[in-house]
Amino acid sequence: MLNLVLFGAPGSGKGTQSEKIIDKYGLHHISTGEVLRKNIKEGTELGKIADSYISKGHLIPDSLMVDILRQELKSLPSESKGVIFDGFPRTIPQAVELEKILSEMGQGLTGVVGLEVPEEELVARMLKRGAETGRADDNIDTILNRLKVYHDQTEPLKEHYQGKGSYLHIDGLGNVDDIFSSISNAIDERVKN
Ligand code: AMP
Repeated sequence: MLNLVLFGAPGSGKGTQSEKIIDKYGLHHISTGEVLRKNIKEGTELGKIADSYISKGHLIPDSLMVDILRQELKSLPSESKGVIFDGFPRTIPQAVELEKILSEMGQGLTGVVGLEVPEEELVARMLKRGAETGRADDNIDTILNRLKVYHDQTEPLKEHYQGKGSYLHIDGLGNVDDIFSSISNAIDERVKN
């Protein structure tokens, strides 16, 4: 099984690169942000709770996110080649839970693909996406909050995974296909070793 975390700040290209990784390696995609947006669109109870956090750029509480992740993993077909986790974990407690859940399933994380992009570029990309898609949290106030939350709560995960030797640094600036080649090379190298 090839289980990868796609890690990076909001706007670092996780969604775009996930699609390419899934196509090449035949993985299942779990995007917690997409699960939440779908619930908001459908007006479910979870959607109402999620919206109150997402619209402010805050994180949804860990216990709720871990329940959602368990649900998503349960609904995967048993013959899955592996999973790409996009937008999860975002906190150290989520990372610890993910390791526990995978080990309960007799599995582990193959690697953490870390997309690194300078802050000005992140803001520009999210503003562009907001204008093109109407995504509600891609407005300047929420973007700045999301970046603050990223630095405070999510960035420490980089050190967590570096300590475990599983962090794969990727320069996330430039052409989408070039970035994807760097990611593929890093994954292939990781799988070989
Ligand atoms: P994303 O599409 O991954 O950028 O997620 C959009 C928003 O959903 C985030 O800004 C958070 O408010 C929320 N969210 C997504 N994944 C998580 C998570 N793992 N933990 C907490 N909140 C999350």
